[in-house]
Amino acid sequence: EQPSPYYFAERQDIAALLVPRNKFSHKGTYGHALLLAGSSGTSGAAVIAAEACLRSGAGLLTVHSTKQTVDALSYRLPEAMTQTDEHDSFITFCDDLSSYRAIGFGPGVGRASETQQLLKSVIQRFQGRLIIDADGLNILAENKTWLEFLPKDTILTPHPKEFERLAGPSDTHFDRLQKARAFATRYACILILKDTYTHICMPDGSVVFNSTGNAGLAKGGSGDCLTGIILGLLTRGYPPPQAALTGTFIHGYTADLCAEMMSQESILITDVIRQLPCAFKQLE
Ligand code: AMP
Ligand code: MG
Repeated sequence: EQPSPYYFAERQDIAALLVPRNKFSHKGTYGHALLLAGSSGTSGAAVIAAEACLRSGAGLLTVHSTKQTVDALSYRLPEAMTQTDEHDSFITFCDDLSSYRAIGFGPGVGRASETQQLLKSVIQRFQGRLIIDADGLNILAENKTWLEFLPKDTILTPHPKEFERLAGPSDTHFDRLQKARAFATRYACILILKDTYTHICMPDGSVVFNSTGNAGLAKGGSGDCLTGIILGLLTRGYPPPQAALTGTFIHGYTADLCAEMMSQESILITDVIRQLPCAFKQLE
């Protein structure tokens, strides 16, 4: 008999995946992340993802972005290193990628043709772990042939609209779920289809349903935070499937912690990021 491909992840499943920090370690142990995010008017997406990344275990983070974003980031998050793009309103360029363990591409990057080429070159050149979100996904939707070249186990985090751009419309939720499974298998990627109960589709055809999160997350910036958390976990050394499961769970779990203390109406994603330390602590 075939085992069911569907699994519902609960707290104990995720707690069992967490790896404690080693006493005899240094920042290099936990890797160096590169975040390619932000453009004119969307600096906040980069700031949110960057802070979530550093609150999720990465040893070092470099953010490559526009001058405006770098200025905002330096003020808000002195722990991050920065590289300013030569272009003022969008990102176009990034030199040597070999020192990064993981790259996050997409929150707030826009879809300028130079930024599209940057994503193409990252997909072609980068040997480490990769998570693509937001406009990174919209760029892939405009250049579907690039999907064939995604490094194995790349993590994609579309919301339903972004997934529709990538894979076409679905008549029902079940139809969309089957499309998402087929997509993850076909491109050997991990597809996190974000929703109230986010589906995490693995390249082997299995699907894990996440159990955490609440409508306080139904606001701009929530997805950027998820990208940052998963980038942090990838950089920290979690293999992509574990980073996807753990990151999605903790993102929702932290929002649930916030919802015990404050109204879902008023929760800001910066409140969620501030509770990440408590969430990790409770799951230890
Ligand atoms: P994005 O649309 O990219 O900002 O991503 C939204 C994030 O918030 C995803 O991780 C969703 O799963 C989460 N989210 C949005 N609305 C809800 C909801 N009603 N219940 C639980 N999670 C939600
Ligand atoms: Mg988003």
